[in-house]
Amino acid sequence: MGRDDEQVDPMEIDCQQKLQVEASTAVPEGFNADYLRVYYGKLFPYGDFFKWLCYGNDGKHPGCDQSYVGRREFSFTLENDIYLRFQSFDSASELESSIKEKCPFKIDIGPVYSVDPAKRHAYAQSGNNVFVPVERELIFDIDISDYDDVRYCCSGADVCLDCWPLMTIAIKILDTSLRDDFGFNHILWVYSGRRGVHCWVCDSRARKLSNEQRAAVADYFRVYKGGENALKKVSLAGPVLHPCSYTDVLESFFEDKLLLSQQLFASEDRCQKILDLIPDENVASELHDKWQRNRSTSISKEDVNAARWKQLKTTLQSGKHKGLRRCVEEIVFLYTYPRLDMEVSKHMNHLLKAPFCIHPKTGRVCVPIDPNNCEDFDPTAVPTLSQLLGELNAASFQTDSENNWERTSLEKSIRFFRTSFLQPLLKACKEELESTYNAKLQQSKNSLNW
Ligand SMILES: [Zn+2]
Repeated sequence: MGRDDEQVDPMEIDCQQKLQVEASTAVPEGFNADYLRVYYGKLFPYGDFFKWLCYGNDGKHPGCDQSYVGRREFSFTLENDIYLRFQSFDSASELESSIKEKCPFKIDIGPVYSVDPAKRHAYAQSGNNVFVPVERELIFDIDISDYDDVRYCCSGADVCLDCWPLMTIAIKILDTSLRDDFGFNHILWVYSGRRGVHCWVCDSRARKLSNEQRAAVADYFRVYKGGENALKKVSLAGPVLHPCSYTDVLESFFEDKLLLSQQLFASEDRCQKILDLIPDENVASELHDKWQRNRSTSISKEDVNAARWKQLKTTLQSGKHKGLRRCVEEIVFLYTYPRLDMEVSKHMNHLLKAPFCIHPKTGRVCVPIDPNNCEDFDPTAVPTLSQLLGELNAASFQTDSENNWERTSLEKSIRFFRTSFLQPLLKACKEELESTYNAKLQQSKNSLNW
């Protein structure tokens, strides 16, 4: 029988059906309480989320601190900008019912306090328990809007694939340094949902840092100094460039990517901005004149940005001009080095938006980012609330289960959170809990023997 009779290719039927299903399950873009209610009802990973914040204290081991997670502050921002601070929960199910009931537009995580934050007033009256933060992940907040003076594609909260690599390089530098220079292992990177990234360092050593120690760590990463009007925002004075020697990484990022994607030398203004960073005025004006001349004459095959950068480098590194070699590195650092919101890192009681929240403006989920593959992360491809609801609708003919997220594009993110972050973290927590407990036991045995 010939294939082209009345027969229809089964593949075609499949496609048609799929299209119909997609059409009937599509959910208009948006962010509202109704959408959010479905998300909190069917997709939010309460179990994994709460397990993280217990840090192993939810087990049966006698060394567990049963009060630990209940002393953690959660803050909810409700639909009409009503803030509910100092919420606390003793179990995942308590957290789950509260979130489902209140449907917060934003969930923030605060520190672990000395006492249950929800009962802080009662404790204050009893007088013998001071209400102070005692533990908190070391956190970092990086916003693309802080890079407005070195990106030309977007400004403010806007971000595109030309400027997002600035965030990628920030993740790489910070992640490597936190691991190599500080020895931290349990680091969670999260997309903020719109214009930046958050970093949660969760090692117990990091969680126990004092405010002073946090400030010292933040300061270690501070190369980028000065305010809005400072001409030179980078100062790398001293014989050592910076404890973290990322010059090579930053320089190749600058040369291979940024130079072209941001067209750093494509206009007189942009050139001038870079020339202003050269402390020797004669050298700067020499380069300026050269670029003025060959702007009108030569039609070089080489990209203008690459050509001018090469000229600048050759001139500054020629050795003819003493003390200008470092200037090349300063320019690279100014344009590429991570710019941190210092205040967020310095204080234990700073609130930070929880992973798996939805950003109200973009509707995108605050998903974890794998630092080892962060160059593949595309903020414009992060699932939106409406996309997830559409996927849920499309899967609705299947049985409803606890793991609805497995049938949506949230699956990859939750699996990554669980296997790459949560499982190794909990293993470390368990080991530490046991060794601390055994040490205490040994100590009391010793004192008895005495
Ligand atoms: Zn951009």
